[in-house]
Amino acid sequence: MTVAQAQRVIGDFIVPISAAEQLPIRSALGRVLAHDIVSHIDVPAHDNSAMDGYALRGADIADGRQVRLSVVGAVHAGQRFAGTVAPGQCVRIMTGAPMPDECDTVIPQELTIDGDAQGVTIPAGRVRAGDNRRLRGEDLAQDSVALARGKLLRPADIGLLASLGKAEVTVQRRLRVAFFSTGDELRSVGETLEPGCVYDSNRYTLHGMLTRLGCDVLDLGVVGDDPAALEAAFRTACEQADAVITSGGVSVGAADYTKQIMASLGEMLFWKIGMRPGRPLAFGRIASHGRDAYLFGLPGNPVAVTVSFYCFVRDALLRLAGAEASPLPRLRVSTTTAIRKKPGRSEYQRGILAPDQQGVWNVRLTGTQGSGILRSMSDANCIIELEHERGDVAAGELVSVVVFDGLV
Ligand code: AMP
Ligand code: MG
Repeated sequence: MTVAQAQRVIGDFIVPISAAEQLPIRSALGRVLAHDIVSHIDVPAHDNSAMDGYALRGADIADGRQVRLSVVGAVHAGQRFAGTVAPGQCVRIMTGAPMPDECDTVIPQELTIDGDAQGVTIPAGRVRAGDNRRLRGEDLAQDSVALARGKLLRPADIGLLASLGKAEVTVQRRLRVAFFSTGDELRSVGETLEPGCVYDSNRYTLHGMLTRLGCDVLDLGVVGDDPAALEAAFRTACEQADAVITSGGVSVGAADYTKQIMASLGEMLFWKIGMRPGRPLAFGRIASHGRDAYLFGLPGNPVAVTVSFYCFVRDALLRLAGAEASPLPRLRVSTTTAIRKKPGRSEYQRGILAPDQQGVWNVRLTGTQGSGILRSMSDANCIIELEHERGDVAAGELVSVVVFDGLV
């Protein structure tokens, strides 16, 4: 199974939720728009000036020669010019003020000569008819779709809603996502670490990734390699959440009952993906007492958890939440370190993007790339994505990176 094949199967299997709620626009940041937002007004509502200067009739400067115009008034933002502007006349105008009906052009103040209360000289060739005028509806035309459903609302979108005068907006309800870690060796923060044990880090990483994605999270703790405890945890998770994410227990280890229990509760696929890190992956749907949930069984290794999350879970949860698909941006940059790579699997290496002395951004590896080395993920500011068929990469070659900052 390639990464792309698994992504396609997951995407096809997921049916978005359809419950929505109404929120004040400020609270809608990061949420998914449930309906198209149609503008009921033109924004701006009238032609207006883009500059502080003089509004004039384009015909008065049509011959391209210097001309002296008489000033017949002034108009500030928030006002309307009540008079009329005859040929040879102009009006002092401020940025954002509505254009007088007869005027179609604004000359910025600093381009004029000898302006006073009576008149102003417009030098030759500094403006053309139509310049420095913002057109009614040029930002949003009345009856046009200002924001499409499925949009993940960012700060500018909240501003756009405000520019339409909307106080509230209908968004998809938050996804509820339950997660737990599996493994007898895991201890939670605050417990003592006996010999042979490790602290559970995956739940904390998952908590962060899910929170950034805007999910309501339900942390079900650590569950040991014990069939009854695992079944109880899966049932609780499934009954309370839209999606369940586990880490550990999907590889081939003998003490892992996780796969059997997942399979017994629903329709599950267990994959070996052609990728590194993160080869084992379980995906499907489980049911308990009439409730069901999607289930992602991620590998246990801390780096593999993060990589699998961004490869498979992120897009799937966004789809489930009703968001329009928007693949993470990939940049092509040159690598300053050589990278060893086996053809026949996709590799995700931790990288640091930084500018060189000329200000050109390049990427280098963080160092040891073992899938248990969470430090390398913490040091990184991007993932270097090496394509399935690609072999060793020499220093100076271009590679694809996915930048961490900006990941919702
Ligand atoms: P598994 O997939 O259960 O075979 O685990 C693979 C490796 O990841 C083992 O070394 C585990 O100890 C480690 N591991 C599994 N779950 C976690 C976790 N929640 N936090 C930190 N390490 C983990
Ligand atoms: Mg385990």
